[in-house]
Amino acid sequence: MRPDILNPIFAESQTLDGVGPKMAKPLEKLGLTRIKDIAYHLPERFVSRRAIADLGEGAEGEQVIIALTATEHRAPYNPGRGPYRVMAQDDAGNICALTYFGRASYTAKKQLPVGEKRWVAGRLDRYGDMLQIVHPDHVEETSAAHLGRMNEPVYALSEGLTQQRIGALVAQSIERLPDLPEWIEPGQFDAVNWPNWRDAMHLAHKDMHKEARDRLAYDELLANSLALLMVKAEGRRRKGQALKGDGALRAKLSLPFEMTGAQKRSVSEIEGDLQQEAPMLRLLQGDVGAGKTVVALEAMLIANEAGKQAALLAPTEILARQHFETLRTMAAPTGVEVALLTGRAKGKEREGLLMGLLQGTIDILVGTHAIFQDSVAYKDLGLVVIDEQHRFGVAQRLALAGKGKRAPHTLAMTATPIPRSLTLAQYGEMDVSRLDELPPGRQAIDTLVVSQDRAEDVIAGVQRHLATGQQAYWVCPMVREANGSFQASDIAAAEARYAELAERFGDDVVMVHGQLKPEVKDANMERFASGQAKLLVATTVIEVGVDVPSSTLMVIEQAERFGLAQLHQLRGRVGRGSEKSRCLLLRGSELSETAQKRLALMRETQDGFRIAEEDLELRGGGEVLGTRQSGDAAFRIADLDQVQQMLPIAHADARLLIERDGGLTSERGEAARILLYLFERDWGVQLLRGG
Ligand code: ADP
Ligand code: MG
Repeated sequence: MRPDILNPIFAESQTLDGVGPKMAKPLEKLGLTRIKDIAYHLPERFVSRRAIADLGEGAEGEQVIIALTATEHRAPYNPGRGPYRVMAQDDAGNICALTYFGRASYTAKKQLPVGEKRWVAGRLDRYGDMLQIVHPDHVEETSAAHLGRMNEPVYALSEGLTQQRIGALVAQSIERLPDLPEWIEPGQFDAVNWPNWRDAMHLAHKDMHKEARDRLAYDELLANSLALLMVKAEGRRRKGQALKGDGALRAKLSLPFEMTGAQKRSVSEIEGDLQQEAPMLRLLQGDVGAGKTVVALEAMLIANEAGKQAALLAPTEILARQHFETLRTMAAPTGVEVALLTGRAKGKEREGLLMGLLQGTIDILVGTHAIFQDSVAYKDLGLVVIDEQHRFGVAQRLALAGKGKRAPHTLAMTATPIPRSLTLAQYGEMDVSRLDELPPGRQAIDTLVVSQDRAEDVIAGVQRHLATGQQAYWVCPMVREANGSFQASDIAAAEARYAELAERFGDDVVMVHGQLKPEVKDANMERFASGQAKLLVATTVIEVGVDVPSSTLMVIEQAERFGLAQLHQLRGRVGRGSEKSRCLLLRGSELSETAQKRLALMRETQDGFRIAEEDLELRGGGEVLGTRQSGDAAFRIADLDQVQQMLPIAHADARLLIERDGGLTSERGEAARILLYLFERDWGVQLLRGG
């Protein structure tokens, strides 16, 4: 049971003033469903602004606050194309444009009536000869409204949220935080001069307070280590069952290919684990396309050979279906029964499945989390395979483990290449098998680094490429601004590039980016996926969420502005068909040494592990841990540097605490329980009670 002291902050976000069902959606997108989630939504950074009286005082790129009077509204000639501009002047008569893209123009019309003075906060920019502010962060009627905005937090947003709204919700949330007992060892606490938890939460929203941030990150790492150590201890207590396969089923498989060395090695590592009575806890790491599925199948067949059932858990319904189809086809010659269970199965169908599981007529079950509902019972579950492990908590794994008479073996699979030094953080003390070798016949992607100046030649190359009937991607960088919108120069550059390509290729080119309406985006995407359009201009990785094997060329503009992990992911979109694929990285003229090294590395290797390791070396990583906002990452508070610096310490501290007070009954132990609940690692605590 959750400690009472935490109940108020585990209340739904909707209990805050100003949050109704409409606001709840965008909050949920960010994972902010409860008060404590909002309080823990720490600023990504802070904007520091300067109040200026005269536009001439401001430097290009500077964040300023200035009084401006609108003189004229200029709608675009062609609605929907080009920005909406409000011309304005300062008290000295200097001119500046306030520029709005898309729907933001409605706000401009309301906030900036001609002839009236307004206090505008935003980033001063240049557009041709003119000064401009794109999407001002704030427009106010009085200067007083800007007090306190000289140093303003910038939060991650989702559609439907603004900085002001989220700021107000954060303020309400941190007011509700209770004082919590201290879980950090006093000696250590004094040495680093950290604030207590509640103060740290307040300070972290005020400025880039290093001590506060470090403390909160440490808390998260400590909670994680504590919980993982508890799971490990529990694993040692619970007995599993040794599974010895005789190879009979595996011999019947008729794979259309020879397994790679890495696959064979992984299978034998798994086989070795399965033969032990102690439950296996192994992670199978391998880039997309490395061939994890067949390794999983071999493992499941070993369980079947030993007379046990196996279950494969997929993160989404679609993936579950895909796995089911693949496995059923591959396993057909073996005669094992493969079944699919998702939340959609109802009535008779579901009953039949449940019966089959209980009676043992189903050998391999594939499904979503529906496979560990209470109503699902297995005859004898020997192995659980979890695809894309990072999307599931260890909690679910344990729930599933609870199904077997004895603890089943667990094989987790992930496509996220994580440097060795970080696997501990992400996966605890799991054993790791790596598929560091792609199946043969996979065409290597030719990667070239080309000067951005040669874009014209590149376009001509694209034209020749399209003439062969193949498709191509053209990726433009897009960086988010303080106010959550995109950098004006990026939008302009992407639009200009699209216009240029459209002039050349007409209907053959479509564009997708975040500013488009979802229907338009989907329609464009569909045109490309179906082959009607040949060239897709896109702005981010995520938006290119398709698998188009006949797309064999990728051009990435200003490649130096992308992170290595991102470039690797992007490039993975080509090289999926039988044709040779190419990736052109266009680079600017003045590159830092690091940027040069990164591009050189991309040219040199396609090995996700190597890229991840070197990314870590080159820049302290950043993206290696994956998309922090998406909720996939292990940590929401701790960044990569903090993980590297503090994880070993937190892990040692957690171990010490558990050695001294395994039941968490001392005063500090009690505080640690609160910490575990706070970070939703309470499965650790539940184990305590069970054991
Ligand atoms: P992952 O799940 O690791 O992304 P998959 O298991 O889906 O990769 O495999 C990707 C593709 O490669 C599949 O079509 C699979 O049949 C094929 N494949 C797997 N192993 C080999 C191999 N050793 N040789 C050739 N093709 C392979
Ligand atoms: Mg897969």
